[in-house]
Amino acid sequence: MDRADIWPRVSKKLENILNRQEYETWFKPVKFKMEKTRAVFLVPNHFFRNWIIERYQTILDRTLAEEFGKNLDVEFEIDPDSVFPAAAAEPKDAPLKPIKPKTTLDNRYTFASFVVGSCNELAHSACMAVAEQPGKKYNPLFIFGGAGLGKTHLLTAVGNYILERRPSLKVQYSSSELFTNELIRAIRFGGISSFQDKYRRLDCLLLDDIQFIAGRERTQQEIFYTFNTLLEAGKQMIITSDKKPSDIAGLEKRLWTRFEWGLLTDLQPPDQETKVAILQKKAAEKDLFLSREAAFFLASQPDSNIRVLEGYLNRLSAACELKTEKLTLDVIATVLGPLVGPRKVSLEKVLGTVAEYFEVKVSDMKGSRKTRAISHPRQMAMYMARRLTKASYPEIGRALGGKDHSSIVKGAKKIKNLSILDPGVSQEIRELEKKILETEELQGSGG
Ligand code: ADP
Ligand code: MG
Repeated sequence: MDRADIWPRVSKKLENILNRQEYETWFKPVKFKMEKTRAVFLVPNHFFRNWIIERYQTILDRTLAEEFGKNLDVEFEIDPDSVFPAAAAEPKDAPLKPIKPKTTLDNRYTFASFVVGSCNELAHSACMAVAEQPGKKYNPLFIFGGAGLGKTHLLTAVGNYILERRPSLKVQYSSSELFTNELIRAIRFGGISSFQDKYRRLDCLLLDDIQFIAGRERTQQEIFYTFNTLLEAGKQMIITSDKKPSDIAGLEKRLWTRFEWGLLTDLQPPDQETKVAILQKKAAEKDLFLSREAAFFLASQPDSNIRVLEGYLNRLSAACELKTEKLTLDVIATVLGPLVGPRKVSLEKVLGTVAEYFEVKVSDMKGSRKTRAISHPRQMAMYMARRLTKASYPEIGRALGGKDHSSIVKGAKKIKNLSILDPGVSQEIRELEKKILETEELQGSGG
């Protein structure tokens, strides 16, 4: 592999993995050179170095290894030509953070940071069981499910759990892409026996995204022998994929049948509640205060899988670091702008959905009767209209049969206050929002 090519490829990958702001802040200003098996990063100052080590070392190691086909020693040097100033108040010989011992496991992915819901509880408990007693229970354990549902997270959590309790065990996380590249390199440069030793002497092999090896004969053969060796020795294998083994086209039968020997378990898309819980957990990890209302709002964005939601959180986190604001819905609307927030929901849609939900007539909501059976839906319509449409107070007033600005303000405020005090009302808001946005989404994509 041509070394000069590596950095552009690695940085392209990082750009995809990280969000743009992170990438541009921390990796754009960095230069790279290869020296034998050392990957040297030239960074503007110590602050940069420490920051990258703290947050990105695992990702960096893994990406380099994937592209290079083997683990590299990563080092940092201060770039004398950098246009960046040395970090303020940085002493000349600022203490350098030690580079963490090399592990292929991302330490953010633990059981503690995994939210369990009905969509993933079986997979989660299978992983826990395996982590407690590797090689004893389900072997192999095969986890499958769509992108972003937490396969890598769970797989890594098992590894972290085992190593925390039994640091002497040999645990290896490899993406199937890394495994393949390592193998190709070993074949090309004559390192096949040390490659085989490395994989066949493990106590636990965590093999991610096995669908990658579809159609690759030599890799499949190697995995077949690795599999047999490990299982015969009672060593644990956990494999993930986007589909169940028999559905992976281009995977040899002797492999997929073996993958089904142990336990197959799948991950389903998270429901609303689980999404909200995940968002709140991720926000807390970033020291962001995300209200439940705000978390719910984000979780109810159409097409919001967890990766998309994390992207939102990263942007919010970057914005709040500068301004130390609380994440209210207003802040969210400002930061995420056109991505989320009031979209093309029409007033008619809001009125119609609210009326249907409370089983009243739209014409009654437009009228002036003050019984609660009517006034509550009416106020709810005012609130939902403010929340989900771009309409101004006077526009909402007109749509509701010519009410004035101040009654719309009052009505919407009343619901907002109730939503804090009365869980029944916040439930109504959630259900209504879901109904309104769901049908909106159908209309948008149905044409
Ligand atoms: P996959 O490997 O299935 O594509 P990942 O494990 O990479 O998905 O998960 C994508 C992101 O979503 C990660 O940041 C992960 O931490 C997060 N995530 C997914 N499911 C959960 C969950 N149940 N609890 C906490 N975080 C989750
Ligand atoms: Mg993954």
